[in-house]
Amino acid sequence: MSSYVNNLVEKVGKYSKDKAQKFRERMEELIQSGKYEELPAVAKEVDEFIAEYKLNVQDLNRRVRELKGLLVEATKIGYDIREYAKELKEVLSNIKDIREAIKKVGDIEEKIRKSIEKLEPRLLFSLDIKGKVDNRYQAKINVRNEGDVDAFNVKLVVNGELKTEKPVEINVVKKGNEEIIDVFLLPGKGEEIEIKGEYERFDGKKYRSAERVKIELKKKGFHVEKNKSKIKCSFCRGTILPGMDIVICDNCGAVYHLPCARRAGKCVKCGTLFNFE
Ligand SMILES: [Zn+2]
Ligand SMILES: [Zn+2]
Repeated sequence: MSSYVNNLVEKVGKYSKDKAQKFRERMEELIQSGKYEELPAVAKEVDEFIAEYKLNVQDLNRRVRELKGLLVEATKIGYDIREYAKELKEVLSNIKDIREAIKKVGDIEEKIRKSIEKLEPRLLFSLDIKGKVDNRYQAKINVRNEGDVDAFNVKLVVNGELKTEKPVEINVVKKGNEEIIDVFLLPGKGEEIEIKGEYERFDGKKYRSAERVKIELKKKGFHVEKNKSKIKCSFCRGTILPGMDIVICDNCGAVYHLPCARRAGKCVKCGTLFNFE
């Protein structure tokens, strides 16, 4: 009879020492009080316990696999998962009750999903006019991502006093990074310039942000004088003779031939726009 009990206890012991000890106590009690006919029912319970335990192990393994997949995804979007990876390791290294371990793994997964849901890209824009060629303004749009995650499929539109011909597209602006885009802008309407951006998060969720800027396009930026002495043109490096018309930058005092200043469209020394209209 004792080998019968030992076999069953050994079977359970592979999965749970606690449970094995409890089965042993119950069966020894039954044997002591002579209730042998109740032993097969306990043996059946042992089998059921083991079957359920195996299912739970499968369930736990599946959840751990899913959680690890989620951790990999989270890492790809630049999310710091170290805290959660540590939590998972602790749960797995100390499993007393498998159902409880399954619940804990589920809790970690939910925590990660909730905090990922809160991550957002956030783009800020600024605009710098670099010069004017014919009717078009050369500009640089600076796009900075101050959000928690990368911004994808970015579409920019400039409207107002200056406008884009068609939306400017950028594949990705990484978090913490900035992209500088060269664009040509056309004269539009109004006194202000608005830069609007539409972009997506890693999961395709859409975001928008906009920035209004005021740029003094009407400012002339230079004045014209009659040249008095022999000097050099800042654009062509050629000599300007006394008596010729010269363009002088209002900001830095750089000197140009009149046609050179027209061609440059701006001061090549300091970037001030020359508005000849
Ligand atoms: Zn010149
Ligand atoms: Zn200048």
